[in-house]
Amino acid sequence: MENYKRSENNKKSENKSENEFLNEELKLEEERQLKRKESRKLNLGGRYSTDWICFEDYQLKEDKNGDLYVVPSSVERLKIYNPFDLAEELLIDTLKLGDAYNVYKNDLKNIDGNAYKKRKVKKNWEDLKAQLLDYVKSYGLLGLISSSTYNRNVIGDKDVLIMERNSLKLKERIMDTQAYMALFTPFAEKGDLGIEYHKNVGYLVKYEDTPRFYGKRPMVMDLIFSGYYAEKVEWIFDYVSMLAKHYNQLMTYKTKASRLTEPVTILANEFEASKIGFTINQADKTVIAWAFDSLKTTIQTIYGFSVTDENIKLKRCENCDGFYFAVTAREKYCSAACRNRSNVRKTRQRQKEIEEVDKEEV
Ligand SMILES: [Zn+2]
Repeated sequence: MENYKRSENNKKSENKSENEFLNEELKLEEERQLKRKESRKLNLGGRYSTDWICFEDYQLKEDKNGDLYVVPSSVERLKIYNPFDLAEELLIDTLKLGDAYNVYKNDLKNIDGNAYKKRKVKKNWEDLKAQLLDYVKSYGLLGLISSSTYNRNVIGDKDVLIMERNSLKLKERIMDTQAYMALFTPFAEKGDLGIEYHKNVGYLVKYEDTPRFYGKRPMVMDLIFSGYYAEKVEWIFDYVSMLAKHYNQLMTYKTKASRLTEPVTILANEFEASKIGFTINQADKTVIAWAFDSLKTTIQTIYGFSVTDENIKLKRCENCDGFYFAVTAREKYCSAACRNRSNVRKTRQRQKEIEEVDKEEV
């Protein structure tokens, strides 16, 4: 009887351990998957303390001078998001847009009267505009009104001090605030926006129900997150194009790194990200709490972390040329599909070479 009991106990514990073993395997596999996913996440060193806002829909619209703008077309619904949570997608989509624009600019230069090339470039411009709209619909506008001045609030100040290296190609160093604001609100009509003063502090009055920060964030944010705030298509393209060029130059210098005698600053005059603020927060650990004034500087900061990250590498796929994050130095492709396509091509190439050698021998 005792023996029987013991063996049953043994059986029980064996079954249990088998189940346990299975569970452990499952758990391990889950952990491995999570690790793979997490390993493609950037280490951004800090927390993002200033969420960004993206409205439901945007459109392209020409102002009275014929300049093409992106402006919200519906502010009924909005998405409040933390750009650090979307860091990888945001960066890759920005570089993709910049890449596409650089290709377009290059094709435009090489039309030389050719009708076919002309049609192709025209179609590419239409595609590019659609890609830009998709981009803005995902992440919102860049906040260039704030990232181009030394003023913190812009709103309520008499004049604005324009940064020497600004994204707007403005030559003026000082501008009347009303004139400056008009550059970003070409479709606002009389009575849509106004400034009211309380105890010498200017507040933006807008006749629509969009976010207000009541001075908790720079006053200009109340304007950026309104249906009247617009950015020129050209400004956005110039910015994303600069970032994509920066990446290309960086990669060129990287391959020559062993021959560099001193550090090189890439695109020194164009890259500069100014006005980046932060405070220190104490939670379960002590962290930097970034306070960005625009999506523009946020993207540049993410980019800065991404090209200096020791664990993952921002790379271009050797098959499709698209950007992706690689975990090891040996990785060459953005996906299994691209690796397969490349292998198939290599096999065909080898086969062709063998056939040619055979022919010669005959
Ligand atoms: Zn690929």
